[in-house]
Amino acid sequence: MDTVECLVVGGGVVGLAIARRLALAGREVMLVETSDQIGSGISSRNSEVIHAGIYYRPGSLKARLCVAGKHALYDYCRNNAVPHQRCGKLIVATDDEEASLLSGIRRTAADNGVDLTWLSCAQVQELEPQVRATAGLLSDTTGIIDSHALMRGLQRDAERAGAGVVVAQSAQGATVTDEGIVVRVGESDVLCRQVVNAAGLGAVAFAERLQGLDPAHVPRLFLAKGNYFTVTGNPGFSHLIYPVPQQAGLGVHLTLDLQATIRFGPDVEWIEQEDYTVDPTRGQEFYTAIRRYWPGLPEGALRPDYAGIRPKLQGPGHAARDFMIESARDHGVPGLVNLFGIESPGLTACLAIADHVAGLLDE
Ligand SMILES: Cc1cc2nc3c(=O)[nH]c(=O)nc-3n(C[C@H](O)[C@H](O)[C@H](O)COP(=O)(O)OP(=O)(O)OC[C@H]3O[C@@H](n4cnc5c(N)ncnc54)[C@H](O)[C@@H]3O)c2cc1C
Repeated sequence: MDTVECLVVGGGVVGLAIARRLALAGREVMLVETSDQIGSGISSRNSEVIHAGIYYRPGSLKARLCVAGKHALYDYCRNNAVPHQRCGKLIVATDDEEASLLSGIRRTAADNGVDLTWLSCAQVQELEPQVRATAGLLSDTTGIIDSHALMRGLQRDAERAGAGVVVAQSAQGATVTDEGIVVRVGESDVLCRQVVNAAGLGAVAFAERLQGLDPAHVPRLFLAKGNYFTVTGNPGFSHLIYPVPQQAGLGVHLTLDLQATIRFGPDVEWIEQEDYTVDPTRGQEFYTAIRRYWPGLPEGALRPDYAGIRPKLQGPGHAARDFMIESARDHGVPGLVNLFGIESPGLTACLAIADHVAGLLDE
């Protein structure tokens, strides 16, 4: 039987960051990815925003790993020529009720170590003349990133440090034994001392096929699709524009990519199975939501773009859950780390998640 010290399941941004981290620490690492290319799952269908760490419950994994990950990511981008831009973000209130919520958002951000600047209506107008708002908050540590360049960089680092990255191979299931964890990879069994389950939307399914793991430690997965719409041209927006957040998502916001193309979304559509089609009729709700802060959005301007799917640990109407990252101290299986519910800000946090997982494996 083949053996490997550390097996990472999943070649998205999180699995790649973990493989890199472990390989740089001198471990023998193999990463397996079902798809025929890395980074084609959740990591290829997101907003590519480097989040500041504003909304998450202070002390939560999302808060801590987002803030630490943001700093690590900016450093990584600078040192490795990964295209990015620290463009900043405005959170805008469009009436007095929303404005009253801004102070709470600012307090939570401060508890997370993130400074936000209060903006009057006139200051918002000065920064973004197209935006109508009664007040706003400016986050100057929010930015955007070329996530594919990042993933290529992480893979390159991992491979240079000796990791094997194997595509078009699934981790089909596993059995916990006295010698280690035996993982079925394609047609072969591989005996691993450590296994990191970073399979994104497939993480729950892989954990369900892990004999020896108590099912009480495998959460239920809910799928929340996020649809995007785009417009042609950019009438001068230079910041990301977010409304005051809503349940399960951050509201239909305006993001920019590194070519300054505008897109709107993601909204929240609960689905039963993976499906990436964008229903054009959802556009009507986008017009209504966007025109609250950009009244000048021309009729007929929105075009359906792409969709991504969030791996949620709670269903519609339930309170947001934190990342669930469990190791032997939680589930009792030596050498196993499961990552569940790695939705936003997983891209921002990837390097900090990798440090966190490495720490858990060292315990
Ligand atoms: C709509 C949307 C917008 C988002 N916007 C942002 C944002 O702006 N900023 C931010 O920080 N975060 C954002 N996120 C979150 C971020 O994209 C994710 O947290 C991150 O990409 C998750 O990476 P991952 O590696 O865990 O998952 P993935 O990228 O999905 O990687 C998991 C990989 O595992 C593979 N796999 C599955 N099962 C197996 C198996 N059995 N064997 C082998 N391989 C397997 C899959 O093919 C996949 O490639 C957003 C997410 C969504 C859905």
